[in-house]
Amino acid sequence: MIRAQGYATQNAQSPLAPFAFDRRDPGEHDVVIAISHCGICHSDIHQARGEWGNSIYPMVPGHEIVGHVKAVGKGVTKFREGDRVGVGCFVDSCRVCGSCQEGLEQYCASGMIATYNGIERDGKTPTFGGYSDVLVTDESYVLRVPMSLDPAAVAPLLCAGITTYSPLRHWKVGPGQRVAVVGLGGLGHMGVKFAAALGAEVTVISTSTRKEADARRLGANHFLVSTDPSAVASAAGSFDFILDTVSASHDVNALIGTLRRDGTLVLVGAPEKPLEIGAFGLLLGRRRFAGSAIGGIKETQEMLDYCGERGIVSDVEVIPIQQVNEAYERTVKGDVRYRFVIDMKSLSA
Ligand code: NAP
Ligand code: ZN
Ligand code: ZN
Repeated sequence: MIRAQGYATQNAQSPLAPFAFDRRDPGEHDVVIAISHCGICHSDIHQARGEWGNSIYPMVPGHEIVGHVKAVGKGVTKFREGDRVGVGCFVDSCRVCGSCQEGLEQYCASGMIATYNGIERDGKTPTFGGYSDVLVTDESYVLRVPMSLDPAAVAPLLCAGITTYSPLRHWKVGPGQRVAVVGLGGLGHMGVKFAAALGAEVTVISTSTRKEADARRLGANHFLVSTDPSAVASAAGSFDFILDTVSASHDVNALIGTLRRDGTLVLVGAPEKPLEIGAFGLLLGRRRFAGSAIGGIKETQEMLDYCGERGIVSDVEVIPIQQVNEAYERTVKGDVRYRFVIDMKSLSA
């Protein structure tokens, strides 16, 4: 066993606190990763606080993981000691179902094995995530991270990046299209960067004017305040595509009304409570309400390579792990520009 140090929460109410645990010894196809950085995704907060009703405790969150390879199993062919690598939201899947064979492991028929708050394929070993110093993972679920990019700023690409890139590519967003990104947080700010890079005309829809200047700097052409009904009404029937990244309950019907005929709203945000959708907003205009979850290994690698070529990274606030509970509070208040990333060196401070 490899002794690991991290931060865990013991139940839905308790703060994250230091926690020591064991990782498996590397098997034939495993890579041992020394974690340098891990992003804080809002999904970490939902799960640490038991908001999705699926939490297993103790929980070491973290699925925006970057580090370097410390050791490899005998059968590993993709990686060598010293390589910079990343791990995202899952560390295994069945490998044989249609989705796995198509490289869409996130939609595995047996369920992907989540990087944390999951159970390994042996049916009993809990998975622990990236708020820790070391990870042992099968090489098939490890990504190559471009050396040209700042490792702290790359970490959020492993979830916020791929979760926004994948639907933009799937729905073929590009030049000549009007795209709205709803919620300017970790996912939202990456959605703006990618939609702009793909050539779309981008509008940010945010709850206040506080982030307007940032939105424009990130690549948005327009900015709408969702709490101003006249502003939303003025955009009626105008967007081809909406990427909804909001983490809490909100009025999706008003947003659906801003789609043009045959437009699509893709939900990537995962609020705790069900959303209410009126029929007529969808019927009249043949509009679509869809969802999308992260991305498969193949597409995540494609996204990382695309970011490497174009110098796209996340805007981050790097923190020591001792500030993780405060970072959770600030994220919930929308007070993060635009992703907290933990510097794992702080674990041994
Ligand atoms: P985040 O950084 O906290 O950003 C969420 C944004 O939503 C906030 O910045 C805020 O934007 C907006 N917002 C928050 N509360 C709101 C409310 N009551 N009404 C309207 N807008 C509100 O979170 P994140 O890490 O980007 O994650 C966003 C959501 O996506 C979470 O639910 C997360 O679990 C989910 N997620 C899903 C996937 C997937 O695979 N589909 C992957 C990762 C995360 P403004 O300040 O601009 O208003
Ligand atoms: Zn995430
Ligand atoms: Zn599968």
